[in-house]
Amino acid sequence: MNISRFTFNMFGVNTYILWDDISKEAAIIDPGMINDVEKKEIDEFIKINKLRLKYLINTHMHIDHSFGVAHIRDKYGLALMANTDDQFLAERLNQQAKMFCLSIPVADLAIETVLKDGDKLKIGDEDIIIMQVPGHSPGSIVIYAIDSNFIISGDVLFQHSIGRTDLPGGNYQQLINTINNKLMTLPDDTIVYPGHGFETTIIEEKKHNPYI
Ligand SMILES: [Zn+2]
Repeated sequence: MNISRFTFNMFGVNTYILWDDISKEAAIIDPGMINDVEKKEIDEFIKINKLRLKYLINTHMHIDHSFGVAHIRDKYGLALMANTDDQFLAERLNQQAKMFCLSIPVADLAIETVLKDGDKLKIGDEDIIIMQVPGHSPGSIVIYAIDSNFIISGDVLFQHSIGRTDLPGGNYQQLINTINNKLMTLPDDTIVYPGHGFETTIIEEKKHNPYI
């Protein structure tokens, strides 16, 4: 499975596209495109690589990860997939924008397809597994590509850091517990692609992450 990272909007969110070379099936994770230039970058990438976008997935429904959701949903006719425990955030995107003093209006969203722990999706021949890892937000999920040996960790786990827990529904102890129980038990060489910043590995975080 191929993975490409794009970094969008004033929060520097990582948007990922996963795709299979043979079938050209693809998933977009956390579309953060906030303006026409960023939307065009994604559209061109999909076009040039002849990808067939199959899934639109959000690791969670914070606004910085959601600016480009409506564009992808409408242009490619996809349902927004996320965990239902973040529905209250999807319904309050405009309120989130105001909280961060953003002057742009942001349309609220609805989670159309619910993803929960253990769900399997397919890109080409490869399974991707959904893991619920709440704490940064109640509905935070991590996407695990077992055969390709990587996770997309959203704002749960970063290189040498973890997600903030001071936003609505955040819970520090729950975050630490679920990281330790669900992520630190993955193989040491699993690559971690976070929602902000650069990639890391499970072993690197076991050794050097001060929070876990
Ligand atoms: Zn977040």
